[in-house]
Amino acid sequence: MHQVKYRSIKSRLIKSRSIIRNLIQAGWGIFLLYIGWKFFRFVRYFEMPGAAGYTSRPPAVEGFLPISALVSLKSWLGGGGFDRIHPAGFAIFLGIILISLLFKKGFCSWFCPIGALSEALGRLGARLFGKNHGLPKFLDYPLMAVKYSILGFFIKVILVDMSPLVAQSFQQSAYNKIADVKMLKFFLEIGQSAVAILLALALFSLVVRNFWCRYLCPYGALLGIVAVFSPWQVTREAQKCTGCNLCNKACPNRINVAESRRVWSAECSSCLDCLEACPAEALGYKGPGGRFAVDPRFYPVLLFGIYLLVVLVAQLTGHWQSSLTLADYRELIPQSTWVGH
Ligand code: SF4
Ligand code: SF4
Repeated sequence: MHQVKYRSIKSRLIKSRSIIRNLIQAGWGIFLLYIGWKFFRFVRYFEMPGAAGYTSRPPAVEGFLPISALVSLKSWLGGGGFDRIHPAGFAIFLGIILISLLFKKGFCSWFCPIGALSEALGRLGARLFGKNHGLPKFLDYPLMAVKYSILGFFIKVILVDMSPLVAQSFQQSAYNKIADVKMLKFFLEIGQSAVAILLALALFSLVVRNFWCRYLCPYGALLGIVAVFSPWQVTREAQKCTGCNLCNKACPNRINVAESRRVWSAECSSCLDCLEACPAEALGYKGPGGRFAVDPRFYPVLLFGIYLLVVLVAQLTGHWQSSLTLADYRELIPQSTWVGH
């Protein structure tokens, strides 16, 4: 009797997991909007002296500068020390890489705002058109190569060809110092062609599930490659599996979970939807040799815990606040336009 009751509570908890993931995505999205709003007010203060009150700059905004973080990595590896211009951006980048190395690219499906938006558009498309479509294999595989090609381009230009000295001088350039301001202005002063591209991406995402993540995102491609080395993977117990294929149907990334012993795929975003879908409880999130299973309920806690730990260490060791002064921003911000101007 107690066992039946326990099983039913457990099953209800599991069923609510995807709702919890969506709530976390929404909460994280609201937090990022707040960061964006604070940064907007900070920039306004320097653009309209006297008209807008001072708001402190939120360092976490640097998390939106992955290319700058890649240059910081090059400079760091070349002996140039930890980035002092955008240290928070570099710390966040290293934190996300660490999360992917340990627990696959859960960042993509639990915290990335673009992943969340792409997923929401896919869900809307499924309501409008009855279902989302996957591209046929002859288009799917070549298109997936696009994100790896973009990543390869950045790795070649920044990590391979750029010398550490050039990386360090880029870090000190006026362009890099206010790259975050330029990013903000890109959205505030968005041009017609950019709007057209964003609308096209939104339309594709309505029809094709995870269009942006599956074909175009170089950040996700990088995390996917790192995640292949993660000791924790979705693991299937063949004795329990009934071959119902529900896991395959649930997987947003078209992974053949039903025939895998361990899901090594770089495309697995650790959304854990397959675990939720499996009626036989044949799937787990397990370490090497099927040991050290992570309870799926605690998976987001682990991700968030690692992220917070990285932020805390960065703050306590002085690797969070930019070395730029208010005088620097007073000089640089009024001259700034976004990259396309
Ligand atoms: S294999 Fe499972 S955890 Fe990985 S993306 Fe597919 S459904 Fe999500
Ligand atoms: S949903 Fe579970 S039982 Fe069904 S095929 Fe997948 S792993 Fe096997």
